[in-house]
Amino acid sequence: MILVLATANQGKAKEIKAILDGKVDLEIKTLVDFPDLKLPPETGSSYRENAIEKAVYVATETGHLAMGDDSGLEVDALDGAPGLYSARFAGEHVSDRDNRKKLIQILKGLPEEKRAAKFVCTMALVTPQGSVDVVEGLCPGRITPVETGEGGFGYDPIFFYPPLGRTFSELSADEKNKYSHRSVALREAIPILNEMCCQKV
Ligand code: IMP
Repeated sequence: MILVLATANQGKAKEIKAILDGKVDLEIKTLVDFPDLKLPPETGSSYRENAIEKAVYVATETGHLAMGDDSGLEVDALDGAPGLYSARFAGEHVSDRDNRKKLIQILKGLPEEKRAAKFVCTMALVTPQGSVDVVEGLCPGRITPVETGEGGFGYDPIFFYPPLGRTFSELSADEKNKYSHRSVALREAIPILNEMCCQKV
């Protein structure tokens, strides 16, 4: 059976594939395999709404099981911003680097104890018949004043993960995939996906 990841972000797709590898009996495809599909713009007022909207669109258009995700970075000192708007924090069509630069600038001078933040991830699993399941994951950390590390994507170079004493960019792919918000959500999704496989949706 096929699972289509309803994301255009190859960084996320790579991580999801690695986390699910060997744990589900599914052939995983991405939007790269369906070049005619254009995800709807994120207009929902919650991660949940956006994740469901993407997955419903892809499940309907492809006739396969689909997984839509929405994620973001929530900074305590900014009352949870950039949150839903993490991808366009510095404006429309900006780079990850632009978003990081803006966040570093806004938090400039803030002491370490006031730099708490968390990554949030919501994933919606939608069958072509329209059944919907939603899972969520969080990962707490803090924002660093400068970028450190080369790996990952998005805000990884400025997201410090205290239990390992490094930024997400300094972790190996295996380490990030063990502790990230995405892996927490996917751990919950795995039994649901396996159940869906058994039912041959
Ligand atoms: P969306 O889920 O495609 O709306 O994107 C969410 C935003 O949060 C993007 O700017 C991502 O770069 C960022 N983001 C989500 N997950 C991660 C992560 O694991 N590391 C770094 N940035 C992330």
